[in-house]
Amino acid sequence: MTYGCQMNVHDSEIIKKYVKECGYDFTEKIENASLIIINTCCVRESAEKRIYGRVNFLKKFKYLNPYLIIGMAGCLVQKDKKALFKKVPHVDFAIGPQEISKIPEIIKEARKGIKYIGDFKEREFIGESEKGLIEHPYQSWLSIMKGCDNYCSYCIVPYVRGHEISKDYNIIEDEFKYLAQCGVKDVTLLGQNVNSYGKGLEENINFAELMIRLDKQDLIPRIRFMTSHPKDFNEAIVNAIKNGKNLCDHIHLPFQAGSDNILKKMNRKYTVNEYIKKIEFVRQELPDAALTTDIIVGFPGETEEDFNQTIKLVQDLRFDSAHTFIYSIRTGTKAAEFEDQIPEEVKKERIKRLIDIQNDISIEINKKLEGKIYNILVEGRDKNKTRLQGRTTSNKIVVFKGDDSLIGKFVDVKIIEGLHWTLIGEKINV
Ligand code: SF4
Repeated sequence: MTYGCQMNVHDSEIIKKYVKECGYDFTEKIENASLIIINTCCVRESAEKRIYGRVNFLKKFKYLNPYLIIGMAGCLVQKDKKALFKKVPHVDFAIGPQEISKIPEIIKEARKGIKYIGDFKEREFIGESEKGLIEHPYQSWLSIMKGCDNYCSYCIVPYVRGHEISKDYNIIEDEFKYLAQCGVKDVTLLGQNVNSYGKGLEENINFAELMIRLDKQDLIPRIRFMTSHPKDFNEAIVNAIKNGKNLCDHIHLPFQAGSDNILKKMNRKYTVNEYIKKIEFVRQELPDAALTTDIIVGFPGETEEDFNQTIKLVQDLRFDSAHTFIYSIRTGTKAAEFEDQIPEEVKKERIKRLIDIQNDISIEINKKLEGKIYNILVEGRDKNKTRLQGRTTSNKIVVFKGDDSLIGKFVDVKIIEGLHWTLIGEKINV
């Protein structure tokens, strides 16, 4: 079971590979399982409560099958460490995100009834072991770095994922070739702040150079990346995408707040004007690129004037879409200690206003795409299972009628209707 971000989804692929090597197969039914590993997240306190609830729910299966092994991995384990066993004593092992390669050894011990709690040390990347079990042969992730040194005041990640460590280029290239051999056609380079890739490496390499090198391999036709940080996002990255063949034209650049006062309190280390200039450069060099962002509403001390500046930025920059979040206190972060917390009803009213405005913009942008033809990679069925679903290079979701033989293939689709989140299309017969 996986909770949390793409980093966790990718970590779960690696965990699954180890589990399979230990001789296990996968089942959808909990009652059939002899090993359950929960890969956890602690970004929000609500997620933490849900996870502990889930792990407690598993207690009855342990009672029914005393040989069942229950393990926990990920950020919540790293945060709670040994205290975790007090909350969920029926768990057999618990490890942080940097100890995944120990899983085969830990499972062996767990089978003998020996419990294990992680050492929670930071580790370098260790090459071969980072290759995960590819679940969809056409789409995967490649982690290029781990940890984060930015300490945004609302975020727990640097405390649980450790310092920023970039992976050596040679290891990345090796994994990239492995994914290509597995048939992957769409890869996302992952990191908490991919734009600062290269810091601390012996080789003089930065993120733009990394993308250029992978692009030149010409092995995987779609290369994406996430997540970017505006303070490190630069013109060289935009130029790499513009001149590249396989680098996708989607930029997700979280701005978080449209007020310099709030950005300072968030410790984001850029100003609104600096952010605007970067977006203007993207628009100038990549006019067809999709731009998306993350926004936090109701950060401590956010006045109506601060919030109106966020609204203005959204109206001025016209993002294709935005992930909007209500600020919630995360114990252990600096912002949790701020005294000027915003009342819940104010936050709710503000986010509603923001979502309404962004929805209108998203629909207006997507309506303008009607009649255009896009080459999309078909990823599977939509959630109703009635249509196929795929993505454009710019990360727009397109649904259209077709049969399963198209899954994993590139197809030209004409957009017939632009909606808020998705585009409805029809396959072009060539
Ligand atoms: S850049 Fe900021 S928000 Fe992102 S992981 Fe690091 S501390 Fe958290």
